[in-house]
Parts: sequence; C-alpha cells; structure tokens
Amino acid sequence: MVSLTPLLEVRDVVKHYRLPRERLLAAAPVVQALQGLSFTLQAGRSLGVVGESGSGKSTLARLVMALEVPSTGQVLMAGRDLQALDAAALRRARTDFQMVFQDPFGSLDPRQTVARIVAEPLEAQGDSSRAQMRQRAAEMLEAVGLRAADAAKYPHEFSGGQRQRIAIARALVTHPKLIVADEPVSALDVSVQAQVLNLMQDLQDQLGVTYLFISHDLAVVDLVCDEVIVLYQGRAVEQGDPDTLFHAAAHPYTRALMHAVPRAQPGARRAALPLPVAPVDAPGGCAFAPRCAFRQHRCLEQAPALRPLAPGHTAACHFAEQVLASTPD
Ligand code: ADP
Ligand code: MG
Repeated sequence: MVSLTPLLEVRDVVKHYRLPRERLLAAAPVVQALQGLSFTLQAGRSLGVVGESGSGKSTLARLVMALEVPSTGQVLMAGRDLQALDAAALRRARTDFQMVFQDPFGSLDPRQTVARIVAEPLEAQGDSSRAQMRQRAAEMLEAVGLRAADAAKYPHEFSGGQRQRIAIARALVTHPKLIVADEPVSALDVSVQAQVLNLMQDLQDQLGVTYLFISHDLAVVDLVCDEVIVLYQGRAVEQGDPDTLFHAAAHPYTRALMHAVPRAQPGARRAALPLPVAPVDAPGGCAFAPRCAFRQHRCLEQAPALRPLAPGHTAACHFAEQVLASTPD
C-alpha cells in the first residue's frame, strides 16, 4: 500500500539564534538561520539541500534530527511532530533517523574499535545481544565495501574515504528510514568523493533508505538526489529536479551556483560566484536583490514568494520568466 503521509515534513520552520549582548543594555542580536522553510520528503526519495556557507543547512539538519527545536513551525516524522514526543518516544523515534557528518576524522571516537563505533546506535537502542551487534556491524561493514575483519581496527588505521564508509555503516546499522547527510563528502579528496556518492546511491537502491542530503555543491546533490531545494539566507529560493536546475534554473542565485561548479564534477575547484557587488538596502525586499543582476525596483520593496513555474518546479523570483528566457551562460 502506498502511504501518502510523507516520511519527513518541514512545516514553515523558523529558527533564530540569540547572540550574546554586546553591551549590557543593548538588545541581543538575533541570527535568522531559517526563515520559514517548508517541504515534504516521501519515503524512498532523496532530497538535496544546497546553498552557500551560512545559508542554514546544518541548522536544518539539527532540527530534523531533533537535536534542536524550531523557534516556530514543525518538523514531522511520518506525521508525528517531533517536538510533541516525550523523551522515551523520541528515543524510540530516533532509531528511524540517523546522521552522517561532514568530518570523518572528528565524528569517529579514536579510542573505540570500528566494531564498537558501528554498533553504537544498536547499543543505544538496547535490545540487541553482543553477538547480534557484532554480527550486524560485520554485515554493515561489508555493505559499505569494507571487510568484516576491519571491525577490530581503530579509526586511525583508515583513510578519510574509508572513515566515511564507517560512518555510513554506523548510520545504517539500525535500519533507519531517513539518513540526514550533512556535507558527507566535502572533507574528502575529489577522487574519493564519487566513490562515496556511488556507494550512497547503491545503498539507497538496495535498502530503500531516504536521504536528506546537504551540500554546498550542486554537482554533488545532482548525483544522489531526485529533487533539490536551493537555500539562500534561510529561505528556499528554488526547488526542482536536478536536470531542471542545471538546464532551466529560474532563480538568479541558482544560476550563479551552477556557474560556479561544472556539472558531473563534484568537488571540482569552483569559481567564485559571479555576482555583481552592488550594495543596496532592501530590508522589505528580496534577500538576494543586493547581489542580483536581474534586479528591478520591485525587488527592493516586495519579497518574492515561492511560486510554481512548471510541475515540480518552483522559484521565488518576481522575474523568473525573464531569467528563464535569458541565455544560460
Ligand atoms: P550552513 O550549514 O549552511 O553553513 P548554518 O546552519 O551552520 O549554515 O548557519 C546558519 C546561520 O546561523 C549562520 O549565520 C550561523 O552563523 C548561524 N548559527 C548557526 N548555529 C548557531 C548557533 N548555535 N548560535 C548562533 N548562531 C548560529
Ligand atoms: Mg553546515
């Protein structure tokens, strides 16, 4: 039976962080990390989230993993609001979603054996015997292309790419429904990135996991994702399938991101975003207006909402049709 409830739903999520006051009586400055983000992710699909550093990607990952709570809005996992769960229910729900982090060096405890590291989520769950955990860790190591014999080794005996395989094995060990991968290949050599991405894709085909796949690199999400959201300063500015974003991007920011990185070359050295630097003050307008080559007066006064341009393609730009009609460079 096909379930219509999405595996993950992010509903109008706002997250701000209050920074320390600079002076005693000054107002505490607030960082708007996410400014009203909404999307759904169906089981078995994979959604990429791309954007520059500081656009709110890791904040989103932490909210989806229930490591933090939204300032307003909701994160629903299989229809259940994570914030409404009590501690025991949250612990049970947690086995359904696991995370792969960017740094394959910092994220694995150097004092633990690989067997222990991979089995750790099972241990936290608490209902497997030692023998079962050992068995399952060995299976997962083989599933990610390592050897069962590697279980007795320590993280320092492995390369960055191998460590990320270990992190993926750990993330998969509880049979999670959702994997949140925050820049999983960004710290790896370019030559190793494609291997890890191919592995993640194969695992999805074999195990049917769902990915929320975060990257600053559009070429990386292109390899793994069915659909992509482009984030700019905590807002979705465009959403569509990777082909649409590469061939018919309707938001000037997406165009700039594509320009910066050649397709099919994840991790390739990228050009700086070719954006005009034209400081304008547009507090009520489009957040991208100060950097936008398509900017018109309206953009400074009115913030554009996401709107549909074609089935499965939305963009938040007043002049999306003009952007589409212009020659991609
Ligand atoms: P990305 O992962 O896309 O680089 P982040 O989600 O890490 O972006 O950050 C988004 C914005 O929120 C940035 O301006 C960042 O400085 C700010 N931010 C993130 N986490 C915190 C925090 N714990 N406290 C204060 N500001 C934060
Ligand atoms: Mg980040």
